[in-house]
Amino acid sequence: MKVPLMNINIQYEQLKEKIDKKMVEIAESSNFVLGKETEMLERAISGLCGVKFAIGVASGTDALILALSALGIKEGDEVITTPFTFVATAEAISRAGAKPVFADIDAKTYNIDAAKIEKAVTSRTKAIIPVHLYGNPCDMDALLEIAKKYKLKIIEDAAQAIGAVYAGRRIGSFGDAGCLSFYPSKNLGAFGDGGMILTDNEESARMIKLLRIHGAISSYRHSVIGFNSRLDNLQAAILSIKLSKLEEWTKRRRAIAALYNSTLKEVVAVPTEQAKGMHAYHLYVIRAGKKRDGLLDFLNKNGVESRVYYPVPLHLQECYRDLGYKTGDFPEAERASLETIALPLFPQMGDDQVNYVVDLVKKGIKLIK
Ligand SMILES: *Cc1c(COP(=O)(O)O)cnc(C)c1O
Repeated sequence: MKVPLMNINIQYEQLKEKIDKKMVEIAESSNFVLGKETEMLERAISGLCGVKFAIGVASGTDALILALSALGIKEGDEVITTPFTFVATAEAISRAGAKPVFADIDAKTYNIDAAKIEKAVTSRTKAIIPVHLYGNPCDMDALLEIAKKYKLKIIEDAAQAIGAVYAGRRIGSFGDAGCLSFYPSKNLGAFGDGGMILTDNEESARMIKLLRIHGAISSYRHSVIGFNSRLDNLQAAILSIKLSKLEEWTKRRRAIAALYNSTLKEVVAVPTEQAKGMHAYHLYVIRAGKKRDGLLDFLNKNGVESRVYYPVPLHLQECYRDLGYKTGDFPEAERASLETIALPLFPQMGDDQVNYVVDLVKKGIKLIK
């Protein structure tokens, strides 16, 4: 049996008729950038996430850059985030002109450890970007408390966490802004790049809408220096069709994770859910300790595609050498990068496939010395 890490193509097969019809309709309309389909998606997602404004942009990375810019983050400012995330989180801070400052993660959730943030706060700190890694909600109570104490903004990186819930509220709705990604492999994926910013603040929403379209207040009149970062109508239309399946897909992701958890917990460390958080399982990540590399090799050789998210924490990346961090600065992030593996998980995965992966993981752990 072969089990892929994820399979995006089945989503298209399931919705092909609707999507094909819509794509032709938009091609014939020649209405490609922003427009009616984008507005419809923005309304649907603001409703789903329980926020006043949802603004479509060109990618999840741009969502972070525009949110930071709209909140006034600029050169000379510091923004605290996790070193254990996709590079885009820190890259966005740098592109907004500010300096990323890292705080280590919690060993169980792999999310930023709120207790380690205070030590990283300086007089230049303006914001925190918590990342709900793999779809697992951060400890928002603790983060909001720190933000309040030091008067910091919170921009949630919810790129992996659409559909996740914390204390009965949707992830992405807690911060001053929440950022979503519609990259094809994400839980709600487009046929290309796309992203969205969530906020309850009218002034931020107004600024983000200006920034995404060259700072234009009307045709060829520009009040601020902006970006070109818009969501295509075609992508928005495809996303709207897929959105109707998101709840069902998230439920299935959670059922698969529950099956994995119950069968794997004796042999490896399985994902931890907080009492208040509902994990959206964008990725299903286990910790295999010193057997990680052996297990990764064993699984891939036997047809079970597995990968490491992420093999090099950001403080040790070449592009961030100038920040002056060294090995040993964030031991939990470093350990996670050496010990974790993502196993296959996609909503259309069958129980037989899950059981096959489980058997192989158990076999591998026993075999590897
Ligand atoms: C995917 C991702 C991003 C960037 O989103 P894009 O749409 O690819 O630009 C940012 N942060 C995290 C944690 C991600 O997983």
